[in-house]
Amino acid sequence: MDKQLSNKDKKMKCVICKHGETKKGTTTITLEKGNSTIVFKDVPAQICDNCGEKYVDGKTTKDLLKKANELVKNGTEVDIRKFQVAA
Ligand SMILES: [Zn+2]
Repeated sequence: MDKQLSNKDKKMKCVICKHGETKKGTTTITLEKGNSTIVFKDVPAQICDNCGEKYVDGKTTKDLLKKANELVKNGTEVDIRKFQVAA
């Protein structure tokens, strides 16, 4: 079986400080909507090794917003949860 290189682990230069390079890691994202505060832990992100700027990709952001919207709809005021990557 051939292994496909599907991992997008490409390093990129930080656009904020223009010096650092991003490294794969996890971060905590807080979303506030109306009266609700939703905190996601262990969100996969690229993190600048120089200034600490975090880059979360578009798909992950979409997942976060979707989950946050569901919680807001259910009337959740505060929620802290581990982010799970949809398979
Ligand atoms: Zn940086």
